[in-house]
Amino acid sequence: MTSRLPHIVAIIVLHLAAVLACVSSPASANDPGEGSLTRPACFSSSAEDRTLAQMAGASTVWNCRGGGWDASARVSWIRFEISGQSGEAPPSLFFTRISRFASISLTAIDADGTRRTATFGERDGTPEAAGPIFTLPLPEITSKTRALVVRIVGPHSAPIMTEARLTGSTTRTDWSVIQLLFLAMILGMLVMPLMFDVSFYIVLREKFVLLHAFMAFSMILYVLFAGGLLPVFANVSVPAMAIGGSLSWAAGSAAAAFFLTEFVEPGRLPARMDRALRLAGWWTLLVIGFASLQLSWTQSFDNALYFYGFVPVIAIYLAAIVVALVRGSVAARYVAAAWIPLFLAASERLLRGLGVYAAPSWFDQFLYSALALEVIVVAMGVASRYAAIRHDRDTARAEARMLGNLSERDPLTGLLNRRALDDRFADLHAAGYETIALFDLDHFKTVNDTHGHEVGDHVLRVVGDVLRTDPEAVAVRMGGEEFLVMFAGGDVETRAERMRQTIAVRVAREVEALKSILTSSVGLVHVPRSAGTPVEFGRIYRRADALLYEAKAGGRNLLASATIRRPAPARTVMPIRTPSAA
Ligand code: GH3
Ligand code: MG
Ligand code: MG
Repeated sequence: MTSRLPHIVAIIVLHLAAVLACVSSPASANDPGEGSLTRPACFSSSAEDRTLAQMAGASTVWNCRGGGWDASARVSWIRFEISGQSGEAPPSLFFTRISRFASISLTAIDADGTRRTATFGERDGTPEAAGPIFTLPLPEITSKTRALVVRIVGPHSAPIMTEARLTGSTTRTDWSVIQLLFLAMILGMLVMPLMFDVSFYIVLREKFVLLHAFMAFSMILYVLFAGGLLPVFANVSVPAMAIGGSLSWAAGSAAAAFFLTEFVEPGRLPARMDRALRLAGWWTLLVIGFASLQLSWTQSFDNALYFYGFVPVIAIYLAAIVVALVRGSVAARYVAAAWIPLFLAASERLLRGLGVYAAPSWFDQFLYSALALEVIVVAMGVASRYAAIRHDRDTARAEARMLGNLSERDPLTGLLNRRALDDRFADLHAAGYETIALFDLDHFKTVNDTHGHEVGDHVLRVVGDVLRTDPEAVAVRMGGEEFLVMFAGGDVETRAERMRQTIAVRVAREVEALKSILTSSVGLVHVPRSAGTPVEFGRIYRRADALLYEAKAGGRNLLASATIRRPAPARTVMPIRTPSAA
């Protein structure tokens, strides 16, 4: 798995290169004709609602040296200076980053003090296919207009102020083809792991696969909402865009916490860390999810709650990854590789969201790239973990199969045992194993008594080896020194007799401690399938046992055979004796 790390690094490098290529291309910048866009000159935020007259006149309340915005204040003001230069089209649109708000009033102030005001609610804004922005039409701007003052009541985020601009036309704000392609590529990269996850889940029903799919799905929604792609396909209101973007990010982040608890191999996360992660997940889902709704009564704190709320969550994520890494988790290595760019990009977005500094909204593309990268690298981790889990399962299955085999084998001789025969007898008979021979060693007890149990065991192992030699026979140790062999094929009686004699020869040769010849007796029944005899093992066994008893009674070292036919079976006792000088 360590061998995958170079691949991951290569992907990260390629990806960052692609991002840089996109964002550094002048056509891709969100402020294409920077010169023709008017940026805010001054800001002012206050809890009380000042009058327009106050704001039009008094310069002391304005901060024109950078800063001055505050998303928690009830009212925020933005002042644009209008140069009124001839030859350039006057601005006609106000646009800014999507966020909820109560109302926005746009007032054009002429040199002579004339004011024209237009006031809008959040549903009046038009989300544009150009990043997370919406536009509002300006009141008439004439050559005499010197300033445009914007009054935002109940702003829910700092970027609604810092990213505010005036422009002459909508085409100014539209996505460039390169940016659209870039976002489409990001979406494609997010959809792919989603499909992998679905196919993984079909084979391996692991919770973390579902959680990863949910993460990928949330991030797709996030890019659609916050990336401003949705207005390309659908008519979505500003509040829906604002809520959808932050809610999908919160849901994806919550899923990430639950994902981490499930994804890290068992035992690599201490129970307390696991609990902290789950708590972080619920916190993100419920508290940050709630802040995402940007309700009017939470306006003074929801933005701070949303962004600062992530601080403990990120701390817990980081601690969990570090602990899992230290405890040797391979899964955590993938997560660490995936989350480092994401943490960097998300921190940048966090600081910007809190209004610590201002930057154009195309900076978001770092975050989208990091997101796609995260989902892909984690998908690789999921694949690797999937392979590991499947390997473990296959091994477990193979072991179970082996144990199953072991339970069907006699440990001393390695032959099948009685239990295995019970399962197979009918099938074997149906497959042509029509002759059943019961082998019993003669006076075996004396071997044990004279030479000890170990020598007795050795004899039994040699007998097992002999009974195994016929490729058309299946040998079973029934217990003690009694064996059953099922024969298929022709000339069966001769083969069984040869086997019986070979036992004496091989035991004499291989068990050196043994001084006398060890003979055996056999009871053999032939049960032709064509005879229409119902194959009932008990009956056949009793028959073979009776024949064996006859062989024993006949002086041992004999094979007694019969064919089960209706009405009365024919019976013969073969007086073949093992040569004593074998
Ligand atoms: P017969 O010719 O009448 O079959 O006489 P026998 O001594 O072979 O028969 P008996 O049933 O009296 O004795 C079977 C002996 O097999 C008794 C027991 O000690 C021995 N035996 C059974 N299982 C094992 C085993 O696993 N290892 C060893 N070494 N001996 C075993
Ligand atoms: Mg015996
Ligand atoms: Mg016996």
